[in-house]
Amino acid sequence: MIAIRSAYMTFTDDPFVKDLSESMVYESDGLILIEDGKIAKVGPAQDLLPDLPEDVEVHTYKDSLVVPGFIDSHVHYAQTEMIAAYGEQLLDWLNNYTFIAEQGFADKDHATEIANVFVDEQIKNGVTSSVVYGTVFPQSVDALFEVAEKHSMRLMTGKVCMDRNAPEPLLDTAQRAYDESKALLEKWNNKGRLEYVITPRFAPTSTPEQLEALGQLAKEYPDVLIQTHLSENLGEVAWVKDLFPEREGYLDVYDHYGLVRERSVFGHCIHLTDKELQTMHDRGATIAHCPTSNFFLGSGYFDIFKALDPERPVRVGMGTDLGAGTSFSMLATLNEAYKAAQLNNKALSAPRALYAATRGTAHSLYLDDKIGSIEPGYEADLAVIDLHSTPIIDYRMKYAKDIEEVLFIQMIMGDDRAIAATYIDGKRAFNRED
Ligand SMILES: [Zn+2]
Repeated sequence: MIAIRSAYMTFTDDPFVKDLSESMVYESDGLILIEDGKIAKVGPAQDLLPDLPEDVEVHTYKDSLVVPGFIDSHVHYAQTEMIAAYGEQLLDWLNNYTFIAEQGFADKDHATEIANVFVDEQIKNGVTSSVVYGTVFPQSVDALFEVAEKHSMRLMTGKVCMDRNAPEPLLDTAQRAYDESKALLEKWNNKGRLEYVITPRFAPTSTPEQLEALGQLAKEYPDVLIQTHLSENLGEVAWVKDLFPEREGYLDVYDHYGLVRERSVFGHCIHLTDKELQTMHDRGATIAHCPTSNFFLGSGYFDIFKALDPERPVRVGMGTDLGAGTSFSMLATLNEAYKAAQLNNKALSAPRALYAATRGTAHSLYLDDKIGSIEPGYEADLAVIDLHSTPIIDYRMKYAKDIEEVLFIQMIMGDDRAIAATYIDGKRAFNRED
């Protein structure tokens, strides 16, 4: 049993729908009691301290803010070694950089080495849970699950399936995609906090036969996560039209094969039509919003407010999408999400952004009964934000009037240096002071 004494902030409801007074909880001097990996009690320190058993170790953070651990709903661990690859948009970037880097993951030792770097970097950035693309090689998925299991992380990943339009060493077949995915799913899904994700890379790299096989697998496992990419780049959307002329549009390709449902997570979705957004809503499917990646590849700027339209809300989670994304930091990602909203002539407030990266992403993954909030019964995944992590943030904070401004300063100026500590499954997994 441990306790954390600090200011904290969490959400009990959706601030895109409800007033902040009904959705956000902020406590300037709080106590979070953790027992067996779960949050046991939370509230003002003065209320909880008198009943705190004497042998409980208390971790105190001054000038800090504890938030639910950040959740990354779309990221490629195999691209850790090729972040900041210059000069291309999506399709050339895949051919010239990504498909070369991913071939190295046939080697399990290489995969394990990168998985360790990737997970360590996530933890240092306060990211406690993520939905991750492996590579086509099953051993690359084993490598990441093994590393995540060591840290008791709630991590979800799967083998990328591709049987056309990629270099030969990265191709499987429809049957191999089905067999290898199913074997990994049986081995890892719901083992501890791990979950398997059925993972066709995107429609252009799968034949109709492969999508059919993965749709069959999805039908056999109706609760299992699915992830792929959708409507990221206009050249890609046109290519899908050429490859699947018989389908109504890009989303309809996936829908036809039974891949659009609750817990289907589609990366990007910048260029969806109104009809496609309606279908996403009807199916209970999810968008992973990855603004640093969208700006880096020149793909466009996603309209989060349109997606969340209360008339037909689509679930939206935040994603870094490394290595097209440019930072492991969810604060840096929210900074870019703010700019994407600005380009749509809308203002994304800091509480809404922080919600999107925590409870909102948990909701988008149908995990909001387990993670994303600081409430009794929730898994104790937490990030501690140092509110004065750089000299200029420290200076700027002198002029902050209220908690909303404090949060906005952090999301616009903060990065990995702002994370003072990270707790995973109730244990301190990272402490900047160590
Ligand atoms: Zn991606």
